Amino acid sequence: MAMQVNWAGNLTYSAARVHRPVSVEELQGVVARSLRIRALGTRHSFNEVGDTPAELVELGGLAPVVEVDSDRARVRVGGGLRYADVGRYIDERGFALGNLGSLPHISVAGACATGTHGSGVGNANLSAAVAGIELVTAEGDLVTLRRGDEGFDGAVVGLGALGVVVALELDLVPSFQVRQRVYEALPLDVLFPKFQEIVSSAYSVSLFTDWRGPVINQVWVKRRDGEAVVPIPAEPADGPRHPVPGMSPDSCTEQSDIPGPWFERLPHFRPDRIPSAGDELQSEFMIDASDAVAALSALDTIRDHIHPVLRICEIRTIAADRLWLSPCYERDTVAIHFTWIADTPAVLPAVARIEEALEPFAPRPHWAKIFTTPPDTLRPRYTRLPDFQALANALDPSGKFRNPFTDKYLFA
Ligand SMILES: Cc1cc2nc3c(=O)[nH]c(=O)nc-3n(C[C@H](O)[C@H](O)[C@H](O)COP(=O)(O)OP(=O)(O)OC[C@H]3O[C@@H](n4cnc5c(N)ncnc54)[C@H](O)[C@@H]3O)c2cc1C
Repeated sequence: MAMQVNWAGNLTYSAARVHRPVSVEELQGVVARSLRIRALGTRHSFNEVGDTPAELVELGGLAPVVEVDSDRARVRVGGGLRYADVGRYIDERGFALGNLGSLPHISVAGACATGTHGSGVGNANLSAAVAGIELVTAEGDLVTLRRGDEGFDGAVVGLGALGVVVALELDLVPSFQVRQRVYEALPLDVLFPKFQEIVSSAYSVSLFTDWRGPVINQVWVKRRDGEAVVPIPAEPADGPRHPVPGMSPDSCTEQSDIPGPWFERLPHFRPDRIPSAGDELQSEFMIDASDAVAALSALDTIRDHIHPVLRICEIRTIAADRLWLSPCYERDTVAIHFTWIADTPAVLPAVARIEEALEPFAPRPHWAKIFTTPPDTLRPRYTRLPDFQALANALDPSGKFRNPFTDKYLFA
């Protein structure tokens, strides 16, 4: 199979071979015979987390399993499926996923492997919805871990380093409708004293700024239908908006306050369109929610280093979880995300500046986006890393699923 690039085009996978098994049994054989192998999802990561010089395996050829268990309010989703493939099916059976990321184009397994998140003070990341995980381990065995099992909390955000996830069981909630509205021009000095109030004002709230001035350009408010309307101290937008200045809102989900199903409102972008800017890189840093105003104030002092290479910055909230390698581990979180221009040499100095400014807040970078934090700085921020290493050694003693990225950050 021809070698592949990631979604952003900033990484050409270095794998010597890409497998595409059509059954779990075939996958088990491929894994058992391989010396070094990793799973590949929908390739939406911006760094080498998913790369390997050895072998990759894609799960798009496996049967598209999606099974709703209404009695237990769970869905079992095959490792090759994307959120876009399962939303409507789940909704038609009266259920919903509690939250979604900004785009439904990503695979469920790949998203959960890196701690992907949406927004909402009461919403944990997408990995926290995982109740069971079925993975093919180093010898080709099919292993199931359920919430409460030893090692489960380490296996969910596993960065692909424990095995190939062939199915996940996810928690469901009763289906719900969401109304989305965008507000504009919220000055930072109005935001800061009311930060917690504003980010808590609806089920999911996102703040976007281009850091050209001390202003939040847009506030995206996703309110569950029936949820009280809390006033936002900004102007309602007079039409649909794209978060990136100057881009057409055609690729964005409905914003006119018309209620719609959760899977058509919680993501910012429609499944059949190019999400975000397309031509871009991304970074994101997760800090303790209580440090949000101090951290944003620190960034405000360096905005002249940020905006020349920035397309847009998004600020979101995420509830704490118990997953060992989750950037939100035991910390109610504010995530500060940067969509950059597609120019790595120009972007890296800005990333380093941001990391320096955020250093007092011990940020945990998004595992799948661009960061320059040294491994020695990062590792102490994951207090359960020794437990994760022990789990990896037990499941994968020869390091079959490791790659240079996991060697550097997790195992060195
Ligand atoms: C436009 C855009 C918008 C984004 N928005 C958000 C957002 O709102 N919130 C957020 O948190 N992130 C966001 N991201 C980042 C994205 O969610 C992560 O990169 C996510 O990991 C992508 O999933 P993927 O299926 O493309 O995984 P890949 O990039 O293919 O792989 C990521 C990791 O998962 C592992 N993996 C994949 N499949 C499996 C499997 N079956 N078994 C074991 N391991 C596996 C890989 O080995 C690799 O380590 C965005 C990315 C893009 C490009």
